[in-house]
Amino acid sequence: MATLIAVLAGDGIGPEVTAEGVRVLEAAAALAGLNLELREALIGGAAIDACGEPFPGETRALCREADAVLLGAVGGPKWSDPEASVRPEQGLLDLRAAMGVFANLRPVKTVPALYAASPLRAELLEGVDILVVRELTGGIYFGRKHREVDWAEDVCSYSKEEIERVLRIAAELARERRRKVTSVDKANVLETSRLWRSVTDRLFASEYDDLELETILVDAAAMHLLSRPADFDVLVTENMFGDILTDEASMLSGSMGMLPSASLNAERRGLFEPIHGSAPDIAGQGIANPCGMILSVALLLRYTLKQPALADEIERAVYAAIAAGTRTRDLSAAGTQSASTRQMGDAVLEQLGA
Ligand code: NAD
Repeated sequence: MATLIAVLAGDGIGPEVTAEGVRVLEAAAALAGLNLELREALIGGAAIDACGEPFPGETRALCREADAVLLGAVGGPKWSDPEASVRPEQGLLDLRAAMGVFANLRPVKTVPALYAASPLRAELLEGVDILVVRELTGGIYFGRKHREVDWAEDVCSYSKEEIERVLRIAAELARERRRKVTSVDKANVLETSRLWRSVTDRLFASEYDDLELETILVDAAAMHLLSRPADFDVLVTENMFGDILTDEASMLSGSMGMLPSASLNAERRGLFEPIHGSAPDIAGQGIANPCGMILSVALLLRYTLKQPALADEIERAVYAAIAAGTRTRDLSAAGTQSASTRQMGDAVLEQLGA
């Protein structure tokens, strides 16, 4: 039976980068003899325009049935009226809820060809290969909110089960990597963090004592990500800390256009998307960097389709294409000739031998 992949291109540069991701996915599937069925559906602003809602029933049904979802990006100025009753971003929140994805994975890797694009010195970037695992559905973003004229509160809460399930994903992924987990909390101040730390200590002592565990406070983590980034392997943390640290970590790699993400549920079925948005400033020009999307395809192959060798091959092809000199505008020095979205996709396909 074919593996079903839902393809939701979305808005802005979403369709442009998704087209290249799909070309690479189809080529990789042909190379490895995988039987995939790709089905497209609407999400975000494009869905609002077509049927008045950002996550139509048809898209929901497809995503529930699919083994994995590949998403471009949603949103844009056309739909950004704060008074509007429907907004594209709601489609994304509904999609995450429908799939039950609670662990957000963001790998950050540096390659010599892009050291110059990062604000950090090259010697600090050497050997950086971090997988940030962020809890996605709990914590302060989802707690009770209350606002009065001169007073407001946001409640942060976590249950043992919510903490344990994301720690398990982090630990299992570490076993596939360099076997080190850094758990980040604020246990010197917050009760949720004290629970997080005690659950972590207990779980790793009883089930993952083959892994090296480091626990650090979030303020120290923010500093160490810049002063010793190569020391991290898997970094796991709660929702808000993860939100902030993933953006900080993304600067290590140079461009936002390079970074992929995966959001997984308990069965490792997932949602795979580049971390960038719909980039309305460059949409329609054919100059967006498709590498974040192509690397998201690699994550789809690694985590949902259990094809780690094929995923490695795609990652190698992306970095080889860049090292050979193909760069989209965001990766090029000012004034140099840059490749189009399509040409970047072509260069990756060539390196793949497809
Ligand atoms: P953005 O990520 O779209 O763009 C930020 C900057 O990075 C822009 O200058 C853009 O041109 C550049 N950029 C982003 N991706 C690029 C790529 N692949 N290649 C080259 N350059 C790239 O963030 P924004 O401008 O804050 O948001 C634009 C819209 O996207 C908003 O409507 C926002 O809500 C939405 N958004 C969606 C998602 C998502 O779908 N997951 C995530 C973030 C933002």
